[in-house]
Amino acid sequence: MEKLLSLVVPVYNEEECILEFISQVRTELVNSSVTYELIFADDGSNDNTVGLIRDEIENDSRIRLVELSYNHGKQAALTAAVTYAKGDYLLYMDPDLQDPPEEIARFISKIEEGYDLVFGVRESMEAGFVASAFSKAFWLILDVFTGLKLPRPLAVMRIFNREFADRFLSYKESNRFIEGIFMHIGMRQATLKIKHRPRFAGVSKYNFARKLRLAKDAILDYSELPLKLATRVGIILVITSLLAVLTLTILRLFFINFQLGWPSLICTLWFGFGINLLFLGVIGSYVGKIYSESKHRPLFSTQRLTNIKQS
Ligand code: UDP
Ligand code: MG
Repeated sequence: MEKLLSLVVPVYNEEECILEFISQVRTELVNSSVTYELIFADDGSNDNTVGLIRDEIENDSRIRLVELSYNHGKQAALTAAVTYAKGDYLLYMDPDLQDPPEEIARFISKIEEGYDLVFGVRESMEAGFVASAFSKAFWLILDVFTGLKLPRPLAVMRIFNREFADRFLSYKESNRFIEGIFMHIGMRQATLKIKHRPRFAGVSKYNFARKLRLAKDAILDYSELPLKLATRVGIILVITSLLAVLTLTILRLFFINFQLGWPSLICTLWFGFGINLLFLGVIGSYVGKIYSESKHRPLFSTQRLTNIKQS
């Protein structure tokens, strides 16, 4: 039977790109081996994006639109699109044509080799120096904090199958770091090198401040390292303060006749700060546990069942 491909596309103020995007997708998929639907999740646009999509829907029943009631951010918009997608395969793309629709066919053949998720990886970056330096730093920091080994430089375009999509939707956390969830799901993953273009039109919706917030959210969603940092710094302070007491005592007794009073004061403060941080870290660890429990993530992600029926 012919497979259904759902293109899941978050859009936010993309009136300059949207028609070109739709037309390029049509051209690419007209002779494809799959049938397709195009699901736009409008993330509270305040330009004419929604109007343009509605006009297209009049003449093309393969296009669907879900409108979020206000700007939620692209993770939530993508999740909305995935929720309403019916496809056997789901392809996540942005409408700004940075990742070109000509690559769709290669994504389909790659996933048909038997993968659950295929990440697009950019051959080269068509971004300015600052943007690409920022993006490198972003992924590096993320790697350090989360311990994830995400393929790089990661493109937006990626394809996954129905099973993977269902698992993705079973992650109920509201602070959604998409790539983190994808890696947590695991299963059979592959990468595909693709071309990268500058944005077709319009400007990036993620300015520096917003990107920083994205990085912070990703780290908070995926890592408890910041909480553990307090404990580590605390331990270091306690140990070094004790060493300082020892050193100063020896110095005073045998070598230098310095003024008494200030060393004991400093050491007491030093030690006190250390103990404080240490216990703050302990409290942090419990907060971390509460946080991770409250995400209600699935406990495991299975690869295969043999002779067991899925209920
Ligand atoms: N987007 C969204 N909600 C937002 C911001 C952006 O759905 O609040 C969409 C936007 O329409 C685009 C995609 O997310 O399709 C990525 O945004 P953009 O291209 O501006 O970011 P960049 O590629 O520069 O990181
Ligand atoms: Mg973009």
